[in-house]
Amino acid sequence: MKKFDVAIAGGGVIGAAIALDLSRAGMCVGLFDRQQPGQEASWASAGILSPAPENPATVAMVPLGKASLSLYPEFIARVEEISGKSAGFRAKGTLEALFSHDTKAELSTIIALHHGLGLKAEPLRAEDARELEPALSEDVEAAVLRPDECSVDNRALTSAVLDAAQHSGAEVFPGHGAKAIWREGDRCRGLILQNEKLEAKWTIIAAGSFSAAIEGVAVYAPVRPAKGQMVALRAEDLEIERVLWSEHIYLVPRNDGRILAGATVEYVGFDKRTTAGGVEKILSAAIELAPRLANARIEETWAGLRPDSPDHLPILGPADLDGLLMATGHFRSGILLTPITARLIREWITEQKVSMDWDRFSPMRFRTQTAEASKKMPA
Ligand SMILES: Cc1cc2nc3c(=O)[nH]c(=O)nc-3n(C[C@H](O)[C@H](O)[C@H](O)COP(=O)(O)OP(=O)(O)OC[C@H]3O[C@@H](n4cnc5c(N)ncnc54)[C@H](O)[C@@H]3O)c2cc1C
Repeated sequence: MKKFDVAIAGGGVIGAAIALDLSRAGMCVGLFDRQQPGQEASWASAGILSPAPENPATVAMVPLGKASLSLYPEFIARVEEISGKSAGFRAKGTLEALFSHDTKAELSTIIALHHGLGLKAEPLRAEDARELEPALSEDVEAAVLRPDECSVDNRALTSAVLDAAQHSGAEVFPGHGAKAIWREGDRCRGLILQNEKLEAKWTIIAAGSFSAAIEGVAVYAPVRPAKGQMVALRAEDLEIERVLWSEHIYLVPRNDGRILAGATVEYVGFDKRTTAGGVEKILSAAIELAPRLANARIEETWAGLRPDSPDHLPILGPADLDGLLMATGHFRSGILLTPITARLIREWITEQKVSMDWDRFSPMRFRTQTAEASKKMPA
């Protein structure tokens, strides 16, 4: 097999977007997937583009999320132009509904938290929220509108990015799983596939939840799968304009009229089965938020595996082997973080510097932890 400037293991939206950016920068890129690319988390996702932190652990990711969201319109325009496909981008804002009895205190806490992080958020009275989104329950007490947030049809996006990468010169190799990184001294010379070695100046690991199974990668990217179950609904008599949230659920309208409801977060290994309990939980929370969904048709149920890292933050940047980079661990925000991930990796490879601080996300944070843990082990 020929040599590449860049070999990428994993053809989800992250690997595909990196392939696109680097091919456009004139590099010879090979994108290797163990199956048909684009069929894992990037296919299973809900496609919400929200940089707001879901919990304190992910506050450190807000600047990355904001930067990525601001790149989205240009990213979509480029991908759609090159691929000739629509990515179902919707810049309609998102609305979080509050049911609590002490909504006044809850509302001011949420608004203060958002403003403190430089995120736009507006408090809404229940009646104003229902005027914007008539599907909302009568029990909603107040709401928060985040006007800048968006959504995208992640299945359409992933397919369009893969096409755009190929049109830009990247070579895609389905059915070519990476067994190991090809290590020689303190350099990574490429990937070891099933029956061959593949040489590249730069090797990028973007295999989502499966990254740690590639021999030599777990020390830098100890990711594990966090299963998420989803349900797609269709309701003839109900329109939802924005992404709607409650404490237990989100509802994501698509341009084709489907409403996605999700998602569970389960640590059950590499199991992608949907379960009665998971679907029941999603449907009851969906109907609580928008009661008329009780009459909706169930069109599809599925589950996917989010690549979670020990601190729930992405794993981005160079490892301590020359030529090896990680682009994984994007957990619940990989669709949001796609444009910034591709940009930072491209900048590192073409300029050896990046336009925003990414040290917090370095794969070396786990390498150091592993070394310290082994020092403490009895001989
Ligand atoms: C239910 C659910 C809802 C979500 N909702 C959102 C959301 O609303 N917003 C958001 O931003 N994010 C969301 N996410 C998270 C987001 O989908 C992921 O973070 C993102 O898709 C990760 O992309 P990826 O390319 O890294 O991984 P994946 O899409 O999983 O791709 C990894 C690829 O690597 C390939 N691969 C595996 N092993 C190997 C190997 N050894 N060699 C070569 N290739 C290999 C796989 O076949 C696959 O194609 C959600 C995820 C799920 C599951």
